[in-house]
Amino acid sequence: MSKKISHYINGKIHDGSFDRSGEIFNPATGEITGLVDFATPALVDETVKAATIAAQAWGKTSLTKRVQTLFAFREILNARKEELAAVITSEHGKVLSDALGEVTRGLEVAEFACGIPHLLKGGYSEGVSTGIDVYSIRQPLGVVGIISPFNFPAMVPMWFFPVAIATGNAVILKPSEKDPSAAMMIAQMWEQAGLPAGVFNVLHGDKVAVDAMLQHPGIKSISFVGSTPIAQYIYETGTKHGKRIQALGGAKNHMLVLPDADLDLAADAAVNAGFGSAGERCMAISVLVAVEPVADKIIEKIKDRMIKLSTGDGTKGTDMGPLVTRVHRDKVAGYVEAGVKEGATLVVDGRNPTVNGAANGFWLGPTLFDNVTANMSIYTDEIFGPVLSVVRVKSYEEGVKLINEHIYGNGTAIFTNDGGAARRFQNEIQVGMIGINVPIPVPAAYYSFGGWKSSLFGDTHAHGTEGVHFFTRGKVVTSRWLDPSHGGINLGFPQN
Ligand code: NAD
Repeated sequence: MSKKISHYINGKIHDGSFDRSGEIFNPATGEITGLVDFATPALVDETVKAATIAAQAWGKTSLTKRVQTLFAFREILNARKEELAAVITSEHGKVLSDALGEVTRGLEVAEFACGIPHLLKGGYSEGVSTGIDVYSIRQPLGVVGIISPFNFPAMVPMWFFPVAIATGNAVILKPSEKDPSAAMMIAQMWEQAGLPAGVFNVLHGDKVAVDAMLQHPGIKSISFVGSTPIAQYIYETGTKHGKRIQALGGAKNHMLVLPDADLDLAADAAVNAGFGSAGERCMAISVLVAVEPVADKIIEKIKDRMIKLSTGDGTKGTDMGPLVTRVHRDKVAGYVEAGVKEGATLVVDGRNPTVNGAANGFWLGPTLFDNVTANMSIYTDEIFGPVLSVVRVKSYEEGVKLINEHIYGNGTAIFTNDGGAARRFQNEIQVGMIGINVPIPVPAAYYSFGGWKSSLFGDTHAHGTEGVHFFTRGKVVTSRWLDPSHGGINLGFPQN
C-alpha cells in the first residue's frame, strides 16, 4: 500500500487522522493501493466555515476575474487530461481511452461555464409604470455541496462545479470513496488556476460525512449523483433541512430496435453502449427491445461482435476493464445466476472470461441474455455491469409500453430508418434523454442532463441553463429615481 489520501480544505491538504478510513483498490490487480481518510461531522463544520468566508469574497469577485480563472482552469485541465485519465483508470479500472473520454466531457462543461457573463444576464423592462423600471438579477447561493458516484470520478463532479464556481459559489465536493484521487488532482488544478483558497474543497468519506453535509445549515444546496435509494434519501433528508436538492439516481436504459433499422449499426451501438466501461455507466444500454422479426438476426450480429471484445487491464489497450470492486463483481455475477434460474436464455456467459491482466482483478466478461421478460430481476433491477438483456416484443406499441412501465427513465434510444416512428417515439416515451440512432444520448454541456421517474429526485437537471438556475437565486428589482412631478399619496398599485 502506498498512497494516503486526505481532504483538501481551504487551499491545503489536511493532516489526516485516518481514524476512520476506506481502502482504495486497483481493480485490475485486486491489490489495495491506498487508504482514504473519512471526514467527521466536526471536519465538515470546519470546512463549511472556511468555505462560507471564501464564498462571500468570491461571490463579489467580478465576472471578468471569475472567467479568467475558469479559462485558466480549462487550459490546465486540457494540458493534464492524460495524467488525470491515468489516475481514473488506476482506481476505477475503465480503459484509458474511456477515462480520457470522461475528462473531455467534463472539460466541455468548464468551457460552457466560461460563457457565464452571458448566461447571468438578467432582464430589464424600462417604464413598466411611469418612471418605474424593473430588472432581474441572479446571485450565488453561498456554499454548495456535490456528492458523486464512483463511475465517473471526474466527469460527474464537473457536471456541477464549473457552473457552481462560475456563478460565484464555494464548493464542497464529496467524491466516491472508491476512487478519490481524481478529485484531489482537480483541486490542485484549481489552485494552479489561481482560484482563491476555500472556493473549492474536497471532503472524503462515507454516510457520516454525507449526513453531516445534509444537516449543515451552512450548505445551501446538494447536487447528488448515485444509486436510486440513496438519491431518494438525499432528496428527502436535504429538503427537510431546507436545502435545494438535485439528486440523480439509477437507470435501466432500453434500446428499441424496429424491423426497418440498420441492424449492423444497431448491433455496433448495442455492444458499444452495453459493454463500454464494463456497463458501469448510468447511460449504458442494458436492455435491447427487439421488435420482431429482428431478434434472431440482431442477436447473431451482437454475438459476432462480442467474440472479438477483449477484457483486461485498462492500461493495456483492451476493450473492457474490470469492475470496480470484488463485491460489485460478485453482485453482477449473482444477477447472471439469477437470470438463468428465472428462465432467460444465457447466450454469452462472461463469468469466466479470458483476461489480459492479473489473476486477482475484478473480472467479468460481456454477457448476453435472450428471452428476458419484465418480471425477471435481470430486467427490473439496475445491474450496473456488462450484462445485456434482449426482450422480444411484437410491435412498436408493446415496446413503448414496456419502457414506459419501467421505474427508471434516464436514457433510451430508438433504432429505425423511419422518421415518423422516431418522431412519435420522442413524443410518447417517458424518459429524460432520448437517442435516435444514437445509443448513449448524453446531452452536450449547453443542454441539461437528467432523467425522469426514479432516475431523478428534484426538478432541476445538471449543467446547461438549468445548472445556472440551480446554483443561483433570482431577485427582481423595481426602481424609481426621484422625479419631483411624481410625489403624492396613492395607496393603490400604480396603474399607468
Ligand atoms: P452510491 O449511491 O453507492 O454512492 C454515491 C455517493 O453516495 C457516494 O459518494 C457514496 O459515498 C455516497 N453514499 C453511499 N451510500 C450512502 C449512504 N448510505 N448514505 C449516504 N451517502 C451514501 O452509487 P455508486 O455505486 O457510487 O454509483 C453507481 C450508481 O450511480 C448507479 O446507480 C448509477 O446509475 C448512478 N449514476 C447515475 C447517474 C445519473 O446521471 N443518473 C450518473 C452516474 C451514476
